[in-house]
Parts: sequence; structure tokens; C-alpha cells
Amino acid sequence: MKLEKLKQKIEKCNQCELAKTRNKAVSGVGSGKAEIMFIGEGPGKKEDLQGEPFVGASGKLLDSLLKQIDSNRKDVFIANVVKCRPPNNRDPRLEEIKACWPWLEKQIEVIKPKLIVTLGRHSLNRFVPGAVIGECRGKILKKKINGLGEIVLFPCYHPAAALYNGSLKKVLEADFVKISKALKLIKKKN
Ligand code: URA
Repeated sequence: MKLEKLKQKIEKCNQCELAKTRNKAVSGVGSGKAEIMFIGEGPGKKEDLQGEPFVGASGKLLDSLLKQIDSNRKDVFIANVVKCRPPNNRDPRLEEIKACWPWLEKQIEVIKPKLIVTLGRHSLNRFVPGAVIGECRGKILKKKINGLGEIVLFPCYHPAAALYNGSLKKVLEADFVKISKALKLIKKKN
């Protein structure tokens, strides 16, 4: 299935409660041939209104981090663990994350990214339950996922967390620099 078709299906999804309160489902943005896929938590207020991920304050930081590694939101693919906004920006619930998984799984299947950068705890824990972000951030993590086979993860802090904490921002910036190196390493091995 092509990404555009997938997007249309996501926009009509009503597999969980979040569909009742959303304005727009936010499927994702970027290239269908992206080598790097960024996966955040879920849409916030602005994303819900515009139907695009990371367009608010944390999106501005993500854009500048991408620029720092000579990239942009057209070259990579940016998506979220849940496609619809949790009311009042609460954490997505486990049943919502589970209900939304088939969409993310299909996006990964279609794009076949060489590297998946998880942004924040919820995204990391979707792939590696129980993993502690402070311990595995900035490192390549290989993981076998049912239905997808082996994927390569690169966990990072969420840009929103970095906005509240200057020292986390420095760590996030340093980890982004490592992303290009990680990609080169993966390509060399394949
Ligand atoms: N935070 C996320 O995790 N995703 C978005 O799309 C916006 C903010």
C-alpha cells in the first residue's frame, strides 16, 4: 500500500476513543523513501488543527535539529506513535498506542527506513517496553519486532523535554550529530 492511500485510511480511522475528540488525524510527513524515520509521541493542539506532525514549539526545535544535520522534513519521514491528539495533551494510553500500531507498522513497512529515531519515552517504549531513555539514548539499538523483522533504533529525548531543560537540549543536539554517523555505519554494514 502506498503512503498516500495509508494517509487516507488513517484520516478515517476510528479504532480508538481519540477519534472522537480529534480535529485532524496526523498521519505523518516526509519522503516515502526516507532513510531516517523520526517517531514522536502524538499530535498536540497545533498538529491536531493543521494535520501535520511537529508544527508547534517542539517542531521548531526539531526543524533546527534537522538543519543542523543538513536535513529537513522533506528528506526524512516524521510520524507519531498515536495519530490523533490525546485530549489536553495527556499521555497516550496503552490501548490507544496498541490500536494505532497497525498504522505505524504499515508506514515502517512501506518506507523501510534504515534508522528509526524514537523521540521520547513513549516512542522508545513502543519498540522496547521498559527501556529507560536516559540509559539508551544516543546509541544504536537493534530490535526484532513481530511482523517487521529487525529494525535499527536510535533513541533520543523528545524535543519538548529539551525545551524545558537546557541540559537535555545540549544532549539532544549532540545525539542528533550522531544520527548521520549512525546511518553511515549502518549503510557500511549492509
Ligand atoms: N509532539 C509529538 O510527539 N508529536 C508531534 O507531532 C508534536 C509534538
